[in-house]
Amino acid sequence: MAMRDKVTVQCPKCGKSFEVEQWSAVNGDKNPQQKLKLLNGTLFTVTCTKCGRENTVGYPLLYSDPKENYMVWLVFDDEEVKHITDYYKTSKTEINETGEDVDKECRQRIVRDVHRLREKIMIFDSHFDDKIIEIAKLAYAQTAQRQIGSEKIAAAFFSNEGGENRIEMYTESGQAFVSKLSRDIYNQLDDKYGGKASYAEDRVYIIDDVWALNLLREYNREI
Ligand SMILES: [Zn+2]
Repeated sequence: MAMRDKVTVQCPKCGKSFEVEQWSAVNGDKNPQQKLKLLNGTLFTVTCTKCGRENTVGYPLLYSDPKENYMVWLVFDDEEVKHITDYYKTSKTEINETGEDVDKECRQRIVRDVHRLREKIMIFDSHFDDKIIEIAKLAYAQTAQRQIGSEKIAAAFFSNEGGENRIEMYTESGQAFVSKLSRDIYNQLDDKYGGKASYAEDRVYIIDDVWALNLLREYNREI
């Protein structure tokens, strides 16, 4: 079920107020157009009706794909993150926010920005495990860091462009480095970390670099 709202936004350039459509829920299977707009960023772009300026607006959204069996909450507010995780922790039943039957094994994630939402969709649609991808991103960033020297790598993302799986890395000044993700490396990391107890821990909704760093720290203490 698609859910959309009409909201009024104000152009930061000319001050004109106008109405736009915002989607509070997108089902990747049933709303392929909105999914495409989400992936290319235009779902969050509004054009001012008076001056034509394009503005990016971030708003909370639930993306789900029952076929691929995952849902990702895009949440900006800390209180809302707490609300969602508390709800899941106490809920023994299936989650039904979108009015659809959701399998209990459905992967549920929370992300805090639009880029991470796009990334999760690409990871799950490419049939990767996002936990292993987060560990792989750290490994690739470490290798790249050694090559580029002093300027720090500030962010890394998985992407899938034209069927090629990649790790994109960005330095603090915005310089980009792209590596092709090797299946061998992915499989090695999966063999090494996939069986760890804390890896398999249930009900962790924010899978990001902090989660991966904590897992690596714990693992390295154990050996
Ligand atoms: Zn304007």
